[in-house]
Amino acid sequence: MMELQSETDARIIDGKATAMKVREEVARRVAALVTRGVRPGLVVVLVGEDPASEVYVRNKDRAASKAGIEARTIKLAADTSEEALLALVAELNADDSVHGVLVQMPLPEHLDAVAIVHAIDPKKDVDGLHPFNVGALWRGEEGLVPCTPAGCVELLDRHDIEIQGARVVIVGRSLLVGKPLAALLLARHATVTLCHSRTRDLAGVCREADILVAAVGRAKLIERDWVRPGATVLDVGINRGEDGKLVGDVAFDQVREVAGAITPVPGGVGPMTIAMLLENTARAAASRAGIAWEELI
Ligand code: NAD
Repeated sequence: MMELQSETDARIIDGKATAMKVREEVARRVAALVTRGVRPGLVVVLVGEDPASEVYVRNKDRAASKAGIEARTIKLAADTSEEALLALVAELNADDSVHGVLVQMPLPEHLDAVAIVHAIDPKKDVDGLHPFNVGALWRGEEGLVPCTPAGCVELLDRHDIEIQGARVVIVGRSLLVGKPLAALLLARHATVTLCHSRTRDLAGVCREADILVAAVGRAKLIERDWVRPGATVLDVGINRGEDGKLVGDVAFDQVREVAGAITPVPGGVGPMTIAMLLENTARAAASRAGIAWEELI
């Protein structure tokens, strides 16, 4: 039986539709770059045969090609040595047709992920994880920004959710999501609280948020009474439910009854991540060619 929605149900933030818009805009900018003789190039390196990573990489490759980016995936055997992977990264760093290099994580255990991230040319680091880019983000300098947090900010902006002055609570402090998102929102004048597994009274802290972001990796952790009525809730989490379906970190059915706006899983933050990867690649290409991003549309 279909459940009736109450009139106060949250606005659903459609990440899929928003991501399509971003991707169309990137495609137009890429076309403008091509007319100036620059074809953005993205190389994704996949080591081993992790099935989830294979799906991600295929989606990235396909989306990049659709946007007019020259996309290539290099697949390496699971037992590839660190030396061989570093040599490949050095080759891609030196290749002028390549503007973005992404080494898909997680890597097999015998490879040092930190050493690999450090080896990527910061100007080609479209994942925004090189210490140079991490530092630039906190210093307010130009650099490449991690795709998922950039996608979160884009979602807020494109759905008219005010960041300046807002109380933001982020649950999860990873280098990939929580920390860079905190830096981005601080730079936009939000008051940011970063929570983690040892935060005391997590529910109480979450209840203070005008904007609550869940980036933990625990299915349905955030419940209805953790959310202040009218708050915006961004759910970054991707978990497999008992039935095999994808679920977020937010108990969507409960929380939508109290939140002002909420992202679903799937179809919320996820699609934005790929869109921002394409944008980062196009930005890296424009920047190398000395063309201002704003000039391209
Ligand atoms: P991570 O495991 O690196 O970090 C998880 C964070 O959550 C840690 O900081 C930890 O302190 C915190 N945490 C763990 N248990 C907690 C608890 N009970 N209470 C409060 N905090 C707790 O994960 P990550 O890479 O940041 O990813 C987080 C989630 O987001 C995962 O589900 C991942 O699949 C998803 N993700 C989605 C996208 C996307 O495109 N939508 C991108 C990246 C990650």
